Amino acid sequence: MTTPLLGQMMDVPLTVSSLIAHAARHFGDTEIVSRRIEGDVHRYTWRDCERRAKQLAQALIALGVQPGERVGTLAWNGYRHLEAYYGPTGFGAVCHTINPRLFPEQIAFIINHADDSYVLFDMTFAPLVDGLAPHCPKVRGWIALGDEACIAEHLSSMKTPVLSYETLLAAQDGEYTWPQLDERAASYLCYTSGTTGNPKGALYSHRSTVLHAYGASLPDAMGLSGRDAVLPVVPMFHVNAWGIPHATALTGAKLVFPGKDLDGKSLFELMEAERVTYSAGVPTVWLGLLNYVKEAGQRFSTLQRTVIGGSACPPAMLRTFEDVYNVEVIHAWGMTEMSPLGTLAKLTWEQSQRPPEAQRKLREKQGHVIYGVDMKIVGEDGRDLPWDGVAFGDLHVRGPWVIDRYFRKDDSPLINGWFPTGDVATIDRDGFLQITDRSKDVIKSGGEWISSIDIENVAIAHPAVAEAACIACSHPKWTERPLLVVVRRPDMNVARDELIAFYDGKVAKWWIPDDVAFVDELPHTATGKLQKLKLRELFRDYVLPSALAVDNCPLTDEETDKPRANPAPR
Ligand code: AMP
Repeated sequence: MTTPLLGQMMDVPLTVSSLIAHAARHFGDTEIVSRRIEGDVHRYTWRDCERRAKQLAQALIALGVQPGERVGTLAWNGYRHLEAYYGPTGFGAVCHTINPRLFPEQIAFIINHADDSYVLFDMTFAPLVDGLAPHCPKVRGWIALGDEACIAEHLSSMKTPVLSYETLLAAQDGEYTWPQLDERAASYLCYTSGTTGNPKGALYSHRSTVLHAYGASLPDAMGLSGRDAVLPVVPMFHVNAWGIPHATALTGAKLVFPGKDLDGKSLFELMEAERVTYSAGVPTVWLGLLNYVKEAGQRFSTLQRTVIGGSACPPAMLRTFEDVYNVEVIHAWGMTEMSPLGTLAKLTWEQSQRPPEAQRKLREKQGHVIYGVDMKIVGEDGRDLPWDGVAFGDLHVRGPWVIDRYFRKDDSPLINGWFPTGDVATIDRDGFLQITDRSKDVIKSGGEWISSIDIENVAIAHPAVAEAACIACSHPKWTERPLLVVVRRPDMNVARDELIAFYDGKVAKWWIPDDVAFVDELPHTATGKLQKLKLRELFRDYVLPSALAVDNCPLTDEETDKPRANPAPR
């Protein structure tokens, strides 16, 4: 074997500390603004952030935390949480962000599974910590993100002994040099929401985090820029807030943290006060914001773009943002196992020459991969399906920021080197992905698949519908038929028949839900996704009118549109 001619460039490891060091050195004066749980608005800069992250690193080292050990966080989006992103990772420990909205039993499982050495927590989570501490005996200390005065004021009734974050930091001088780490060392640990079974850990590396930050910042990805003031609504306890804390350090953007108040009014006021240009979050949050802005008769004066992902962005929401408020929507898809970004719906030059409605249709999909991620859809036999926008298949991905295996699990989840996402999707000729379902949520009617997301998107477009979920109900003739579960907008009414009629001409006849059930609210997961498993349990005994009268079933073979050419991979 001949020795390859090696390149002669510097071998600089891609480490998370290089991001904060870059931001502090080159965008040192750029502001980071946080609405604190103390009730005030805190301001400092990327330079201050690095200094305090170094103080935190020194404090953790003084407490005996070793490189490789996990440091947990239970916190809202704020500057101290940002320090907790950079302090532990800077000296080789792992920042483990914990989702406080999970069930306490799941949180205890996660902390024990991760073997967290210390857990940093926002004071709002004091009752949660008191409940968790007896079940997490290996945690060496619980660190409250506040000073002694605040702790005395708010945490006096806590049973668990706590340390004060500010006292720990005050004991350190911040004169610390980030060590050179192996770029393959672990950086962050994020657990999946665990809708089936226990949550599973995705352990990112410094290299994957930095590469993801580069990828996310590209103009045709999130397109973050130093010209932006970015308000991440997506929580820092969920998949690293889609990489925004890293991409903003890389680009030198201003960061605006909303703290715990994520209602429409609070978000709108902060956006306006801080002249926010860019935001990111799940559809549920934007629903609240759009409702508030409409009811209050407000307009966004600086907001230009928002990333919507985590669940399918309803086309009606995209249109409202763009046509009514002149805010560009970037629809994105990804998952915890992918750090999380996979695809974003941005158009090429050629695509943007097409008629406006054709452009819209493309941008309503989940989009095109970012360089770094590759994807394919496969059928039941594992063979690749065509990229024709019609064939549904299991979506598989691979790339340097996609997991190879789960934390502390020996068996590999990969299939021939690809990670099976559990999503079912089409890919069209333009390479645009469209998620039709989670594989377990797919509705199978007469052997053919119905996309619950498509059905929900039509319902959401009705002016009286606030939220909608489509689930499978058992049916004697078709095995399963779609049931639409709807939350009406306050003070608005719509009847079952009117909603069913609303589907005419919008989807194939055999996709139209057989019935509509109205509810006050829909169950959501800890990350704001519709909890279809729970909904299916709630409606387990629901009998569709079409099932009662199979002979009069509205859907006869003759009436059915030609079903989609569906290789039915499952
Ligand atoms: P999580 O790991 O909690 O971020 O959840 C990832 C899952 O959320 C994906 O596998 C999808 O099922 C779903 N998801 C994320 N983004 C979207 C999107 N834009 N449209 C539809 N589903 C999405």
